[in-house]
Amino acid sequence: MLAKRQKTVRAPSYRDGRSPEDPTMSDADAPTYIVDHLNRVKRRADRGHYDHETVHRLLDSGALAHVSYIVDGWPLCTPTLFWREGTRIYWHGSNSSRMLKNLSEGEPVCITVTHFDSLVLARCGFNHSADYRSVMAFGHARIVEDPEEKRRALTMMVDRFFPGRTAQLRASTQKEINATTVVMMDIERASAKIRAKGVADDDEDYALPIYAERLPVRMVIGPPESCPRLQSGVERPHNLDGYRAGRPLEEAVTEAHAAAYSD
Ligand SMILES: Cc1cc2nc3c(=O)[nH]c(=O)nc-3n(C[C@H](O)[C@H](O)[C@H](O)COP(=O)(O)OP(=O)(O)OC[C@H]3O[C@@H](n4cnc5c(N)ncnc54)[C@H](O)[C@@H]3O)c2cc1C
Repeated sequence: MLAKRQKTVRAPSYRDGRSPEDPTMSDADAPTYIVDHLNRVKRRADRGHYDHETVHRLLDSGALAHVSYIVDGWPLCTPTLFWREGTRIYWHGSNSSRMLKNLSEGEPVCITVTHFDSLVLARCGFNHSADYRSVMAFGHARIVEDPEEKRRALTMMVDRFFPGRTAQLRASTQKEINATTVVMMDIERASAKIRAKGVADDDEDYALPIYAERLPVRMVIGPPESCPRLQSGVERPHNLDGYRAGRPLEEAVTEAHAAAYSD
């Protein structure tokens, strides 16, 4: 069943980064985003990555994005669920959302996805830090107008987290679809930045009798709380088995995305 559904939701290959026409494709190596003044990591350049694999892995293992844009001269940064297909990012919301109303005409957008991996307690305040993996992706936001693409994108919104779930649901009504705005952004530039080193003190400070540690941080799934109004006999479907108590959310989300949209 999954294989059949994949056929309807997979990205066209030209957006997979595998087409020779794709400007993000480098000749010899794996596909990489173009690097310029906008996305070149200057501060701690050694932590920067631009290849599709790293950027997409960090996107697909995240559930929450922060969408930044300017309205009337003010920067706004809106947290939202999102999903990726090829080099395109989608997000959605109510038609009355200020964010979505302001992102209809190709406005420039920066989308950030962050994995907060640890707090780092060093031997001086200056070296206190965090381990993290994050992505900043840049592009121009557009409303998905085509009814078929919109319907497909809304299916992706659910199935990206819960593969196969749309097929188990009551079908969306046209009224529900009309009340929803879907926005997409083709990634024009992107960078990933990764710090994964724990405590990094100045050499002379290691001799100090001061406690230091890396404090790992994880977002973990809690015990599922079934809806109190479930009809009797309705069981939790097995395609939700990946979402079990104690499992890191990132692991479950990565697995779900891979099952639904392997690219
Ligand atoms: C959880 C977390 C905690 C952090 N805490 C701190 C902190 O306390 N202090 C601090 O100075 N920095 C912190 N950072 C790093 C911070 O995100 C910036 O990388 C850093 O402040 C440098 O910013 P800049 O604009 O000077 O970088 P520049 O190197 O000038 O940025 C140039 C380009 O590099 C890319 N880039 C920069 N930062 C990131 C990033 N994080 N992820 C992806 N691409 C990036 C973007 O494309 C950006 O346009 C933290 C990051 C995370 C994820």
